[in-house]
Amino acid sequence: MSALADRLAALTPELRGRLVAGQRLADIAWFRVGGPAEVLFSPSDEGDLSYFLERAPQDVPIYPIGLGSNLLVRDGGMPGVVIRLGKTFAGIAVEGDARLRVGAAAADKRVAIAALEAGIGGFAFYHGIPGSIGGALRMNAGAHGTETSDRVVEVYGVDRSGARRTFSNADMGYAYRSSKAPQDVIFTGALLQGYPETEDAIRAEMDAVAEHRETKQPIKSRTGGSTFKNPPGHSAWKLIDAAGCRGFRVGGAQVSEMHCNFLINVGGATGADIESLGEEVRRRVKEHSGVELEWEIKRIGVAA
Ligand SMILES: Cc1cc2nc3c(=O)[nH]c(=O)nc-3n(C[C@H](O)[C@H](O)[C@H](O)COP(=O)(O)OP(=O)(O)OC[C@H]3O[C@@H](n4cnc5c(N)ncnc54)[C@H](O)[C@@H]3O)c2cc1C
Repeated sequence: MSALADRLAALTPELRGRLVAGQRLADIAWFRVGGPAEVLFSPSDEGDLSYFLERAPQDVPIYPIGLGSNLLVRDGGMPGVVIRLGKTFAGIAVEGDARLRVGAAAADKRVAIAALEAGIGGFAFYHGIPGSIGGALRMNAGAHGTETSDRVVEVYGVDRSGARRTFSNADMGYAYRSSKAPQDVIFTGALLQGYPETEDAIRAEMDAVAEHRETKQPIKSRTGGSTFKNPPGHSAWKLIDAAGCRGFRVGGAQVSEMHCNFLINVGGATGADIESLGEEVRRRVKEHSGVELEWEIKRIGVAA
């Protein structure tokens, strides 16, 4: 155990979840790069999460991660505690009035399938997003004209003091790929609203989503999805293409030939390669079109 893991274990004698020192984040994050988490905590349930947050000293940084599909972990790793919710937070329950109560660790794809089986429309877009509901709630994940904010009734979570919190859709302060909900809150689940729909119609929508992904995005690559947000009135990929960046490489990182707004680890990339490539793309786009691209991918941790 590391000094921090020992210190936390001593402060939380009744903890039921797992504290792991030096967990490799490259095994979790989609890019397959980056250093370790100083400590990874997997709570056994919401009470355990609350107990831990209440007792963890305020000077210890805490950062939640989901399935790591929107993360670029830097090579020096994450100081402090990374929290990852496990199976006990992955439940999906169908409620009346075309609603789903979902845990934050449920994969978006599983939510789409549960909605299909229940004849609930409005969730087919999740079929193509490789994250978890926790990540979707934070990022306002969306595709094909629907965003998470279109479905949220209420979101549940635990804040840094260990208090349970509930947020309405308005409280979440949703905008394009972002939420203004307090950064210290770890979402544990949400109540989502769909609408009655036939199984055939939902299945057709899901097939269209899958077809789009397979033909237009490098979904089998080590990537973090869309790298930059679309600036108002522009498509990030068009700006990147026009600046001549398609296929451009730094070390083992490359701008995807298939979709210019995706960076990929073509083998042996470091976190620094991917970040430098992204920064060089931003510089060239700014020089070519005058538009400043904003990272959508969350870059976390410290440089090596
Ligand atoms: C091939 C590919 C295609 C993609 N396509 C899309 C797309 O079409 N649309 C789209 O919106 N995104 C897309 N993405 C990006 C990504 O899948 C989404 O942003 C997704 O919502 C991230 O979820 P995650 O569980 O992987 O979160 P992570 O990547 O692990 O984390 C993302 C952010 O969410 C926060 N977070 C995670 N869990 C919690 C929690 N429980 N409580 C509080 N905060 C939390 C993290 O702190 C971090 O800030 C794509 C990614 C890939 C690799």
